[in-house]
Amino acid sequence: MKYLVSSCLAGVACRYNGTASLDEKIQELVAQEQALMVCPELLGGFSTPREPAEVIGGTGKDVLAGTAQVIERGGRDVTELYIKGAYQTLEWAKRLNVTCIVLKEFSPSCGTQAIYDGNFANHKVQGEGVTSALLRHEGYEVISEFQFMEQL
Ligand code: SF4
Repeated sequence: MKYLVSSCLAGVACRYNGTASLDEKIQELVAQEQALMVCPELLGGFSTPREPAEVIGGTGKDVLAGTAQVIERGGRDVTELYIKGAYQTLEWAKRLNVTCIVLKEFSPSCGTQAIYDGNFANHKVQGEGVTSALLRHEGYEVISEFQFMEQL
């Protein structure tokens, strides 16, 4: 197995609002058994649909360091579930010995270069989601669906 990919990019309707973010090239990788799909938020214990959440006080790296939190729009602190999902995803990466991980840009779990800024106002900041930060810290190559397309 070469790739680990965000489930929503492969067409699974697992986003917070019950939709997918289908990318046909990524779906093809799964169909050809070159990629395994993972959704860190479902692995962390969430179901779909769920409240939107954003990182407050930093980025995914800061969440892992304990200096930022992931908070739902309604105010519930869901940091622990995000961290759990990140570690579960890491376990899959290790188990399958993947060489590249393609995750959905802007998500508080999967964002690779930018995430929403914590104000629920559709503003983004530079930085990774919690899962991307953990996987990179462990030495994995993590790219977005946009970078994946550029590589084709
Ligand atoms: Fe997609 Fe990642 Fe959000 Fe799951 S956690 S819905 S895979 S962006």
